[in-house]
Amino acid sequence: MYHNPKLQFLGWIDNLPIHVVIAINTNEQETIVITAYEPNLHEWKPGFQKKEVMMKCVICKQGETQSGLTNVTIERRGMILIVKDVPAEVCSNCGESYVNENTTRSILRMAEDALKTGVQVEICPFKAA
Ligand SMILES: [Zn+2]
Repeated sequence: MYHNPKLQFLGWIDNLPIHVVIAINTNEQETIVITAYEPNLHEWKPGFQKKEVMMKCVICKQGETQSGLTNVTIERRGMILIVKDVPAEVCSNCGESYVNENTTRSILRMAEDALKTGVQVEICPFKAA
């Protein structure tokens, strides 16, 4: 279970990868960027592509990430949304998952939709926006 409303993703600025950690304020609509930095390119596998990023986990610094699925929990204004089977890069060592920018946007959109329905707890399969 992913209790922390914190999402991490790899973004791209001018073709340079950038690792972004964001926190979603649970009471407000805003998304706060905590850190944004360029990962050390030497830690990246040569020949990586946007679609298939292999990176060393920044949490445990041991494992490498692999494409997988994770569940993301978002709490917003008292509503809890659990999004299942979210595509993510998952650390093979510690299990930390990294959700990319587009996926993050889709999750935020799903949270907005769920808020409109007035539910308190919702469990949804991931839908790409
Ligand atoms: Zn790890």
